[in-house]
Amino acid sequence: MTHAAPTKDLHELARRISEGCTECRACQFRCEFLSEHGTPKALADRFLTTGTGRAAAFECSLCGLCSTVCPMGLPLKAFFLAMRRAAMDAGRISLVPYRARLDYERFGASRLMSLFRLPAGGDTVFFPGCTLPGRHPDTTRALLAHLRNCIPDLGLVLSCCFKTTHDLGCQDRFDVRFGALLDRLHAMGVTTVLTACPNCFAVFTEYGRELTVRTVFDVLAEHPVTRDAHVRGSAVVHTPCPYRGDAHIQERIRLMVEDTGLDPEKTRQDGPLSPCCGEGGSVGLLRPELAAAWGAKAVRRADGRVVVTSCAGCVAFLSGHARAVHLLDLVFHPARTMSGTLPRPKGLATYLHRLRLKWRALAHIR
Ligand code: SF4
Ligand code: SF4
Repeated sequence: MTHAAPTKDLHELARRISEGCTECRACQFRCEFLSEHGTPKALADRFLTTGTGRAAAFECSLCGLCSTVCPMGLPLKAFFLAMRRAAMDAGRISLVPYRARLDYERFGASRLMSLFRLPAGGDTVFFPGCTLPGRHPDTTRALLAHLRNCIPDLGLVLSCCFKTTHDLGCQDRFDVRFGALLDRLHAMGVTTVLTACPNCFAVFTEYGRELTVRTVFDVLAEHPVTRDAHVRGSAVVHTPCPYRGDAHIQERIRLMVEDTGLDPEKTRQDGPLSPCCGEGGSVGLLRPELAAAWGAKAVRRADGRVVVTSCAGCVAFLSGHARAVHLLDLVFHPARTMSGTLPRPKGLATYLHRLRLKWRALAHIR
């Protein structure tokens, strides 16, 4: 797994933005980070003329909303990620603020927490990621049981996709860690990975070599869950940033929300225009007020309605400010999700639930 030399990438991206940006401010109007730091052209010019400004990219949530709205189609998210990589490679960035999150990632991939199981004859594994099994344990169990009914020789892999490391610009470290995960999957004979987390989906799609990557929503669309209870009420659908450019997934998710009985109302910030929940790029660890400002946008958009999203991280981040629920909770436990009685563990309990899932899988997936 290789990536082009970051400094060369960065100069090319900066030149492209310097020459292409018309300073129309469509991106700046929607973004807390750009409102504070200036237009992409100003940032690119500053870098090209003085070589400075790379550290500022750690205040960008890498949400991609700017790239979506830019009429010139400029690769803005790629530019800010390249700035992060260059700053990291230059040794200018302390990882101290990110230590707990990086430890969380590493622990998720540790021998204690991880699991690699694929029944004989199988070639597909479910990769639930870190947050869903910890914070939504009942749903993860129900989802796994449903998926195994649909795909009898389905395997399970419990580990981490290392998106935090990736987005912090620690590309070499990411390449080593994710590369080791890929090698192991290939050695097991895995050809298809089913993801539930949008971040895992993004990482496997970009770096998964010849692996086929599907979301569990594809399987659920082909094999719907039979429900005897439907819920009622209006909702807004919050698109997680990694799905921003994927109209197919957005449509699939909207249909699934409708199928639960909720009425997903149209807003001016639907689909690709959903604001970041605030958690992206670990910005909240450096500039909590910027992350909170993003979250506040998402809450204003909801305007008192239930926020339905397909990302456990978004649910966790938005729950402090709005009534946010995970689509998979709604699918498998509609009544308990809407009544707020479905357990949402936090802290140490999340690790216990992840271990419990591992122990059950050790007994049942052979
Ligand atoms: S990626 Fe998101 S946070 Fe970063 S500049 Fe673009 S819109 Fe702003
Ligand atoms: S939307 Fe595009 S052209 Fe307009 S200011 Fe932003 S980067 Fe420049």
